[in-house]
Amino acid sequence: MRFVARQPKEGINVSDTHPLVEAGTLVVGLMAIFAAITLALVFLVEIALYFVSAEDEAKLFGDWLPADLVTVASDDDRLQETQRLVARLAEHWPDKPYEFRVEIDASDTANAMAFPGGLIIVTRGLLDQVESENELAFVLGHELGHFKNRDHRRALGRGIVLSMFFAVVTGGDVAGLGIKTADLALRGFSRQQETRADEFGLALVHSEYGHVNEAWRLFERWDIEDTAFIELVTYLSTHPETGDRIVDIKQHAEREGWRLDGELTTLNW
Ligand SMILES: [Zn+2]
Repeated sequence: MRFVARQPKEGINVSDTHPLVEAGTLVVGLMAIFAAITLALVFLVEIALYFVSAEDEAKLFGDWLPADLVTVASDDDRLQETQRLVARLAEHWPDKPYEFRVEIDASDTANAMAFPGGLIIVTRGLLDQVESENELAFVLGHELGHFKNRDHRRALGRGIVLSMFFAVVTGGDVAGLGIKTADLALRGFSRQQETRADEFGLALVHSEYGHVNEAWRLFERWDIEDTAFIELVTYLSTHPETGDRIVDIKQHAEREGWRLDGELTTLNW
């Protein structure tokens, strides 16, 4: 029997599917794999972050500032007053692992935020609206509460989480990170984290003044329906409803037996 070599059929290496569809499937598939790896990594890093001590965090972020922060002049009266007030409040937290730093962001929207390493940023818009030192002390005390509970770890942006992880691993510092305020500021905390920060902040205010009068006053003024005004207060997008919050603050003070009245301290500006 003679073997007859036959040519394979035309197009044996050509799939029936259109090449563009095949290319698309490949790209989507690779993207899905990449996304899955990134998510898994971020998840692992967030867990790892719970093992980074506050002391290491303070060391790593000791002089870090967000890339997009527009600060006021360092001899600004309100900056110096606010720095002094944070230092006074932090005195009532004896074993604090952070050296707190305060910066004023030259933004007209009212907000206050806690950042890695003990950095507190308050906006010019917020300082424009506080009318007594007691009001400001509570806002600052609340941010100190986020450091106390280390809530800001969960609020770190994905980028910062990864960078911090690599900084820990390589022993480098993260001062050069291009993290933006907005990336971090818009990550709100849970209601429970907010309540705990309020309770710690209120305790600091009580230790400082011997009463908690008007700690809630700023929120009372914000508890209005004027939407144009509300847009100026980004603080409200990352903090609990002001009405509930005022009630909770007062109830907590009553439970602790802290005076709700007392002499107010005027601002020195
Ligand atoms: Zn908060």
